[in-house]
Amino acid sequence: MRRKIVAGNWKMNGSQDLVRSLVGDVKARLSGLDNGVEAVIIPPALYVESVKGLSGDSLGVGVQNVSQWASGAFTGEISADMAKDLGCDWALVGHSERRQYFGETDELVSAKVGRVLQSGLQVVLCVGETLEERERGEAKAVVSSQVASGLAGVEADQWSRVVVAYEPVWAIGTGKTATSEDAQSMHAEIRRVLADMGAPSEQISVLYGGSVKADNAAALFAEPDVDGGLIGGASLIAEEFVSICRSM
Ligand code: PGA
Repeated sequence: MRRKIVAGNWKMNGSQDLVRSLVGDVKARLSGLDNGVEAVIIPPALYVESVKGLSGDSLGVGVQNVSQWASGAFTGEISADMAKDLGCDWALVGHSERRQYFGETDELVSAKVGRVLQSGLQVVLCVGETLEERERGEAKAVVSSQVASGLAGVEADQWSRVVVAYEPVWAIGTGKTATSEDAQSMHAEIRRVLADMGAPSEQISVLYGGSVKADNAAALFAEPDVDGGLIGGASLIAEEFVSICRSM
């Protein structure tokens, strides 16, 4: 049985007020939910401690990015060890916005995955093709290569802390979602690549992300290789996020 995970990526949104109003509400609405889903909140790093304080052990907490360096003179960076020290469970690595706006290459992404796993955190490696890549018929090749290079350094005893999120770039924040069939087909491909790498592919959760909302989540989650979601915009509204968790 694979873990079912719904993670809310707040991106650079939120405030102390949002943390106070949303986290308690999500926690209350999820209490008693027994569909086995693990709900995770990934706020900006400055709010991690307050989210953790309010959620206790009922929600997982993560950071959106970490440095490729362990520590030292790298002004403005935060390390995976610091996230772990604050009680985080997760770190996202390689989100398409990091690749697109901050020039993160597959090599850098792979180094960050290594740091996250060394620190003891769990990693969500984000992968996905652009619209141009999809139109050129290269979607599977692009995604397979991002998975293979991003996870190239994972050691045998670390796979249980690895999750992959497939997020087609053209679906992020656009209101366009991949069809359930397209998502399923890419998730199966990701699992095939993981198996080729010698990973326990049947045990690794693969999440879908890109305009997941309360009204399309159930259809996506019904696919056999879709083990949950990475939710952007809809994770900023308690009711919407909880209803996605309930769709699992
Ligand atoms: P979205 O973002 O749900 O707002 O499309 C998803 C993501 O970028 O993780």
